[in-house]
Amino acid sequence: MAIERTLSIIKPDAVAKNVIGQIYSRFEGAGLKVIAARMTWLSEQEAGQFYAVHKERPFFKDLVSFMTSGPVMIQALEGENAIAKNRELMGATDPKKADKGTIRADFAESIDANAVHGSDAPETAAVEVAFFFPGMNTYAGR
Ligand code: UDP
Repeated sequence: MAIERTLSIIKPDAVAKNVIGQIYSRFEGAGLKVIAARMTWLSEQEAGQFYAVHKERPFFKDLVSFMTSGPVMIQALEGENAIAKNRELMGATDPKKADKGTIRADFAESIDANAVHGSDAPETAAVEVAFFFPGMNTYAGR
């Protein structure tokens, strides 16, 4: 299995709930290493750019205002199969449909305030990690 890197964001709702540590424990328990991290409050421009693929979707405006409603914790995760593994830990986009024991089932309230973001494919992971951690491509990791 390949060692991959993926981008994770603990969204404003989960930061406000004070569950950063509990979410980090899940990453660690699944063998994912936090190799870079940054806590920040996204600007509208950053959130809009990050979610540009959803620009035409009806929920775009609300998504940007949610993502800028409070601080977020952004991390690059590394490990075997990290992209799929993180998506498994997260659960489905809609917490009502998320499997029991997933981050979204346990910590999220709704389809928009859904606790975490995770890259969904190698191509998006590369773009998203570089978006928040420019220079990571030169980081050896281990
Ligand atoms: N989203 C929303 N309403 C929807 C679908 C998505 O507010 O009907 C938000 C939600 O925060 C989601 C993000 O837009 O996490 C990106 O959507 P995507 O379909 O890429 O889901 P994800 O990859 O985050 O599971």
